[in-house]
Amino acid sequence: MADYDYDLFVIGAGSGGVRAARMAAGLGVRVAIAEHRYLGGTCVNVGCVPKKLFVYASHFREDFLAAEGFGWAVKNPQFHWTRLLAQKDQEIARLQGIYRGLLRDSGVKIIEGQARLPDAHHVCVGEQKYRCERILIATGGWPSIPDFPGKEHVVSSNEIFTLDKLPERILIVGGGYIAVEFAGIMHGLGVETTLCYRGDKLLRGFDEDVRDFIAQEMHKKGINILFNTQIKAIEKTGNSLIALTEQDSRLETGLVLYATGRTPNTAGLDLEVLGVELDAKGAIKVNGNYQTNIPSIYALGDVTGRFNLTPVATAEAMALVNGLYSDHHAPVDYDNIPTAVFSQPCVSTVGLTETEAKKRYHDIDIYKSVFKPMKHTLSGLGEKTLMKMIVRRSNDRVLGVHMVGADAGEIIQGMAVAIRAGATKAIFDSTIGIHPTSAEEFVTMQKPVDK
Ligand code: FAD
Ligand code: NDP
Repeated sequence: MADYDYDLFVIGAGSGGVRAARMAAGLGVRVAIAEHRYLGGTCVNVGCVPKKLFVYASHFREDFLAAEGFGWAVKNPQFHWTRLLAQKDQEIARLQGIYRGLLRDSGVKIIEGQARLPDAHHVCVGEQKYRCERILIATGGWPSIPDFPGKEHVVSSNEIFTLDKLPERILIVGGGYIAVEFAGIMHGLGVETTLCYRGDKLLRGFDEDVRDFIAQEMHKKGINILFNTQIKAIEKTGNSLIALTEQDSRLETGLVLYATGRTPNTAGLDLEVLGVELDAKGAIKVNGNYQTNIPSIYALGDVTGRFNLTPVATAEAMALVNGLYSDHHAPVDYDNIPTAVFSQPCVSTVGLTETEAKKRYHDIDIYKSVFKPMKHTLSGLGEKTLMKMIVRRSNDRVLGVHMVGADAGEIIQGMAVAIRAGATKAIFDSTIGIHPTSAEEFVTMQKPVDK
């Protein structure tokens, strides 16, 4: 024990790494954390935080329009991209400072630089070599862009947060979280937006009604969505980019954003030399205790390629540290993880989709409601809300709750607690609503759709 420089060496100061390092240090463990790019990782620097700030920024366009319906005269509002970037950068710097302070105050040694693993008990950062009892890899993910002619002309979500100026037109490729969120952001900021997706429905894995509904609402707002369209090459001509599709169309645009998934970030760690096992997608394989096939090496968060969400990475960090260094071991429950896509309108969901529920059980009732939220009776915007609930008849358990509409993420967080607590439809029905809200619809859904 005394031979080790650190009991736990964490590689990567993102959501998972920072939480693990702080918690372990708080339990008296000697911890170091290496970070080579930015404290706070993806979420703080090029993910959740700046993305959500951009969502707020982009929503004002509709808010100004809606205001008129409520008696306000809003004259010619102007948007300044560089001002938004400066505000966003200031907030990120503040958060990075907080992360630094939290780590320092809990006694974690912060080591700046790129780490690699020469063997199962050492980490090298630059010229320094540290001997460690345990090593935690929390190096996250990195945007993955397929190879095609003209790939050098496109940007990923990493660059979109620091563009010098907004383009007049953007082509966004992909149909997942980032593509759908940035389509809303760019459209809201006044950029003519085309979303190009290879499949026929956005957001694979989400409930089919949700997938249809979000596409309709995005289309209504003026986002051009091209389904079943695959880019084969991109050419640059002057200030324009021309995307050539497999379907033989030419799409002229000012900027192309590829949002085609993220791959686990193991580059430069030398894991292959050490023999750390990866899965077919390059994610580090771990057992139920986040341990790799090398007993002293652990991994969690996006680098393990399972649920790539910040709260999952932090939950895994807490489970790992408690498991290793305390008596309170509580493993992460991967069922019923709530999630939100910060599209416009917002998508949020917890539990089973209709398709999943019907595959598992033969006694499923579906409750569904599509309505114009009260705000839009005067806003003139025509946005609708979808709410859907999946219930198992035999035990009355609510198995899934899905929403597309304003504040869906805020509403579904509470629903996730109810589902984890095993709430039945009768419990929902006997809960008094809060009036007038959209959320009250979830406690007043009377009849299943097929009855
Ligand atoms: P990361 O946060 O990626 O941290 C990994 C860290 O390791 C990085 O700081 C990296 O620089 C560092 N690192 C890598 N290799 C080395 C090395 N060799 N040496 C030293 N340091 C290294 N999730 C949500 O829950 N909600 C959202 O709204 C949301 N929005 C997102 C929006 C975007 C655009 C993106 C890209 C992601 C979003 N996510 C969101 C996902 C979320 O950001 C990730 O799930 C989360 O950050 C994963 O945390 P992590 O600790 O596994 O990795
Ligand atoms: P996603 O996995 O969500 O979506 C990737 C999209 O790209 C899919 O539509 C996929 O299509 C498509 N795609 C993949 N490969 C290709 C290809 N070669 N050519 C064309 N299209 C392709 O990844 P994102 O990049 O959007 O986001 C990464 C992850 O980050 C998310 O999965 C999520 O875990 C996390 N995230 C979370 C957010 C949140 O919580 N709000 C926000 C942003 C990111 P297909 O479906 O057909 O495979």
